[in-house]
Amino acid sequence: MNMRKDQPNIVFVFCDQLRQSALGCYRQDPVWTPHIDAFAKESLMLTHAVSNQPVCSPYRAMLFSGQYPFSNGVWANCNTSRDHELSDDTQCFSDTLSENGYATGYIGKLHLHKPRPPYEHGEGPRGDGIVWDAYTPPGPSRHGFDFWHSYGCCDEHMQPHYWTTDSPVSEPLDPNEWSVIHETDVATKYIQNLNGTQRDPDKPYFLMVSYNPPHPPLDQVPSHLTEPFVDKSLRELLTRPNIQVEGIEEQARTNAVLYFAAIYGIDQQFARILAAIDESGQSDNTIVIFTSDHGELLHSHGLRQKNYWYDESMLVPFLIRYPGKIQPGEDDLLLGAPDIFPTVAGLVGLSEAIPESVEGQDYSAQLMGTPEGRPDSAYFIWPHWRHHETKPYRACRGVRTHRYTYVLGRCDDGSEEQILHDSQEDPFQMRNVADDNPGTVSDLRGMTNEWIEKTNDPWLDADLTAPPA
Ligand code: CA
Repeated sequence: MNMRKDQPNIVFVFCDQLRQSALGCYRQDPVWTPHIDAFAKESLMLTHAVSNQPVCSPYRAMLFSGQYPFSNGVWANCNTSRDHELSDDTQCFSDTLSENGYATGYIGKLHLHKPRPPYEHGEGPRGDGIVWDAYTPPGPSRHGFDFWHSYGCCDEHMQPHYWTTDSPVSEPLDPNEWSVIHETDVATKYIQNLNGTQRDPDKPYFLMVSYNPPHPPLDQVPSHLTEPFVDKSLRELLTRPNIQVEGIEEQARTNAVLYFAAIYGIDQQFARILAAIDESGQSDNTIVIFTSDHGELLHSHGLRQKNYWYDESMLVPFLIRYPGKIQPGEDDLLLGAPDIFPTVAGLVGLSEAIPESVEGQDYSAQLMGTPEGRPDSAYFIWPHWRHHETKPYRACRGVRTHRYTYVLGRCDDGSEEQILHDSQEDPFQMRNVADDNPGTVSDLRGMTNEWIEKTNDPWLDADLTAPPA
């Protein structure tokens, strides 16, 4: 099928580990993101977009496939410790757009494939001998992307490397630059497409840009970006009442300075992508999305990183600009990662092309103002060990509604515990009120069971656990 050239372009920019509260437009953390905030005023800002399994590879596989983890097979991070990867046979977002007339480009971190030898051209084994970085060869593993400037998983933000469209595994590119700047250079060149050198100028394009920061290591960030934050106190930086930093106050303060510095830098680089779209004359005909794969706890609940049901981990920013089609404003749509593929396909008129395998829902009509057909919950999946307070859970499942976060934890002895947070009474999720609300708990457990059943989840009958991701 050949699309007309005036079919909308799609520019999908996502960060790694950027929590929802850490953009100025969400009015919470004391960040400095003026360009993203201005973009948000032109966009629909989702306040309840979630990362259903808040960790790298599972989010990315949900995004690509439109399926939940037990359908696409990626329920843990991809590395050499296990056999997980996105199958070449899965019909992905980019396959569908490519087959329907789009030029397609992928830039940045992928993290969807199991590393295979030789390892020495990428990041190589980490301290424990496990390899994370993977080369994705041309062909079906690239899922329809015809322009490629990517790597698997490598946390060296100041010394990144990339395999380009045609480079063999032995010849990655090694730019000596903060990865966010380098990837933005490549993205703006792709958007400008001078003399048609980057892509077919007669096709609409779908570009994904996957920045690794603000993912750790936090200290790998250009030092001048710390300027707006470096003189601030711990309490000025970490303002959430659920912060627990006893004994590590200075480390926590430094972490906040560095995390916000990376986001400040991302704001400047994202502005360059928007400017390139403007200069190309295509702003009115380009859907631009800015989001993240999951959040960062940054000392809330005494925790770092992600992998939890708490807002800081599970809520992601989601801004979508589509001039003339999507009204700017705020929306509390409970958008999950598997919904993104069908929703964007719906927005560009390709509803008929959404494959049967997709489990997410097409919410394009809802984003354009249809009040009916909105979800009342989003699924939470954590199929690994998880320590909660004193008790280790073997695995967890749960749901989020607009008001509640419900989690069912299964302990090692087979017993179960339930957690209920009421965001209306307790916006920072500091109290478990499950015992006081048996009716609500029962309803939410029913909703969780519905999700378990409709997503091929083996929770009820399998011992599906793995080492911590
Ligand atoms: Ca991640």
